[in-house]
Amino acid sequence: MIPTSLEWCQNQDKNDPLGDKRAAFDLPDGVIYMDGNSLGPLPKSVAPRLESVVKQEWRTDLIKSWNTADWINLPTRVGARIAPLIGAKAAEVVMADSTSVNLFKVAAAACRFAREASTKRTRIISEPGNFPTDLYMMQGLADFLGEDYELVTVERSEIIDAVDDKTAVVLLTHVHYVTADMFDMKDITAAVQAKGAMMVWDLSHSAGAVPVDLNGANADFAVGCGYKYLNGGPGAPAFLYVAERHLASARQPLSGWFGHKSPFDFKDDFEPAADIRRMLVGTTGVLAASALEEALKVFEDVDMRVIRQKSLAQADLFMALVREKLVGHNLGIVTPEKHTGRGSHVSLSFAEGYAVMQALIDHGVIGDFRAPNYMRFGFTPLYLSFEDVYRAVDILADILDKEIWRDSKYRTRSDVT
Ligand SMILES: *Cc1c(COP(=O)(O)O)cnc(C)c1O
Repeated sequence: MIPTSLEWCQNQDKNDPLGDKRAAFDLPDGVIYMDGNSLGPLPKSVAPRLESVVKQEWRTDLIKSWNTADWINLPTRVGARIAPLIGAKAAEVVMADSTSVNLFKVAAAACRFAREASTKRTRIISEPGNFPTDLYMMQGLADFLGEDYELVTVERSEIIDAVDDKTAVVLLTHVHYVTADMFDMKDITAAVQAKGAMMVWDLSHSAGAVPVDLNGANADFAVGCGYKYLNGGPGAPAFLYVAERHLASARQPLSGWFGHKSPFDFKDDFEPAADIRRMLVGTTGVLAASALEEALKVFEDVDMRVIRQKSLAQADLFMALVREKLVGHNLGIVTPEKHTGRGSHVSLSFAEGYAVMQALIDHGVIGDFRAPNYMRFGFTPLYLSFEDVYRAVDILADILDKEIWRDSKYRTRSDVT
């Protein structure tokens, strides 16, 4: 039995090894923020850092800052900060572009390796219901590569069986964006590689949320998001990972000048950088990259295992409270119970989930909604307390018991859910 009393929650908070991290975030008063899986909140040090980047580096030092402030090395510098969070070496990770663009680059690189191994390997495998951009980008890549290429989506229980000598690459999202189902990265990578295909992991809902060990799993490529659990700010740059063994030979088709071995020689012919920088495309968005770099400092002195332990305990508490206080409301818990099988958010299904979430937000509990009927609640131990979780379920119970969500103002859909 998981204790569900307010006193227990307050006691957990008193003994929380991450308790003082909340002070590193600038959270609005009266808000319980449970959407760090979609947009991480603002770390306090980011605004002053941006002010200094704008006023000193940009306004005063102008173009000299490419050297004096080392703007040129932001991609690898930020990559090196992300590397320990995902079980990679600093040289294997770079900050760049968006997750969507990075998916294209790494999958294209994997397809190219596959083509060198066998001209028959022209299939990309993923799962139905993966995050849409992952599927869309693979559809676009297959179309671009030519008639032989195709994206095939296979239910997760059948993925390994589906990998054959026609398979170039398997692309999976480690933690599912709706259900929070988490794959066993090591087993799947090994099984895919045993059949001669390459493995690409999307870590958008994993980086900064759950311990990830790309090296331990022998992953070939990975991508991930900077604005979710990494708190890099809206539309923050993303990152990508290339296993060390592939660094010298991986080639991606978006061969922009920042991927050139010496961009400032201004040569006509492209020659890739010898290292991870060959995955870069064009000029870094310095303001956004600086925000992400600053935000990542919050992780400097924390162990992902400590974060994980607390987020599992908080999600366990949440599910127990939902079962206890929301009986009879026809609410489903979509996220698996098993610790090894889930990431760091919990999804509840409810026919009127959209209206309920709008009412919740209006009452100070911010989660989000995913079509057709899922309410998502993110557990982000750096700033969420056990008492927050307790109060959030109390407010949710009130909204359901009193049918507050039926108010017409909670039913109009905005462009972004
Ligand atoms: C959030 C997310 C993305 C985001 O892609 P963008 O290019 O940043 O819009 C991609 N894949 C997954 C699995 C995600 O969760």
